[in-house]
Amino acid sequence: MTERIGIIGGGIVGIALARALVLRGAGEVTVFEKEQRLATHQTGRNSGVVHAGLYYAPGSLKATLCAAGRVSIREYCVEKGLPYREVGKLVVASDESELGALAEIERRSIANGVPDLVRLEGQAALRDIEPHVAGVAAVHSPHTAAVDYAAITEAMAQDVRAAGGSILLGSEVTAMTLEGAAVRVVTPTSEHTFDRVIACAGLQSDVVAKLVGAGWRVGDPVPHPVLLDVHRHVQGRYGVRFDSFALARYRDGRDGQAFHRDRDMRWLDETVIALLTLGARRPWLLRPRANRYAHELDHHGAVLDLAPGPGDLVVMGGGCQARWEHSVAKVRRPIGERISVQWRWTSGQGRPVQGASYRAPRHYSR
Ligand SMILES: Cc1cc2nc3c(=O)[nH]c(=O)nc-3n(C[C@H](O)[C@H](O)[C@H](O)COP(=O)(O)OP(=O)(O)OC[C@H]3O[C@@H](n4cnc5c(N)ncnc54)[C@H](O)[C@@H]3O)c2cc1C
Repeated sequence: MTERIGIIGGGIVGIALARALVLRGAGEVTVFEKEQRLATHQTGRNSGVVHAGLYYAPGSLKATLCAAGRVSIREYCVEKGLPYREVGKLVVASDESELGALAEIERRSIANGVPDLVRLEGQAALRDIEPHVAGVAAVHSPHTAAVDYAAITEAMAQDVRAAGGSILLGSEVTAMTLEGAAVRVVTPTSEHTFDRVIACAGLQSDVVAKLVGAGWRVGDPVPHPVLLDVHRHVQGRYGVRFDSFALARYRDGRDGQAFHRDRDMRWLDETVIALLTLGARRPWLLRPRANRYAHELDHHGAVLDLAPGPGDLVVMGGGCQARWEHSVAKVRRPIGERISVQWRWTSGQGRPVQGASYRAPRHYSR
């Protein structure tokens, strides 16, 4: 029997996947896109650069796919008569302090086989390429190109339709249920059954994941009694309510998170987030935000390493998110896996935003 495949998301990833599947005869393919047009989210609002592979770690999957993708995007644009402009890219060291970082980009670019890369020294050499640039040195990647990713997506969508695939616009997937080995997909105006559903929902992937039960809310079946104990303990001790938790996995020292702050649906001053560490102890840094609250801090300028170990609970409240940023630092030495279990309040309008800007409550508006 022909496999029935549903794809959620009509950005470039969903449409490219649909195209690859129909051209290979993998089954009956249906794409659901909630907007009235394709590519209206990231795909149609990005910078339009075909990256040449300057930054990625040599040998990594990103570097390999970037090199292959550069070639296939060019071929596809030529075949379809779509714009492909090799405008080139200059990566500039604006002063001496950036020369080390530039040398590393040059090393990676060469290792990644970026074609015809040239090192330029001095302002005059840079201005031969770009008259408005200011800097002391640069690497020039002449084949970095600019394209119209929305047009590429539309062209690939035509390929999908021509090969018998369906693309349903204005069709938001609002529910999914398992029916034996099949998946029932529901939109406001239709229902469908598939053998396989693939989510390509871009930045709304978390919303789609929740449709199939990812995430947990109070009242759902409890994933583990220990987690519920911690949940109750922190709620009682700090007088807050949590309605969800998430897991963040750090596989080894190469996984980390830059300095940031989190917020839930409340003001940053009222946000309380609890983090339970499972697995390896590793640096977990706090530093004051360089803002107008800095003078209120005892540790102005300080960086604190809480280094939570297995079973340690970190509770961030009392205006912590308004005044402090935190990071899970990357480490060079061998280090085991760490899982951070995080309790939050996510109810209300919209969804929680990491590191979001926020309007100061009245009593801080001096
Ligand atoms: C500011 C910015 C600049 C970038 N610049 C570049 C660049 O220069 N070069 C480059 O190569 N990459 C760039 N990127 C990355 C690139 O744009 C993305 O990797 C790529 O567009 C992701 O495509 P996507 O199909 O996964 O996501 P999207 O284009 O976001 O598509 C996801 C689609 O899923 C749909 N959807 C979501 N939920 C549902 C649902 N429940 N039912 C039905 N449909 C749903 C959405 O409406 C959307 O159309 C940039 C990204 C950003 C944000």
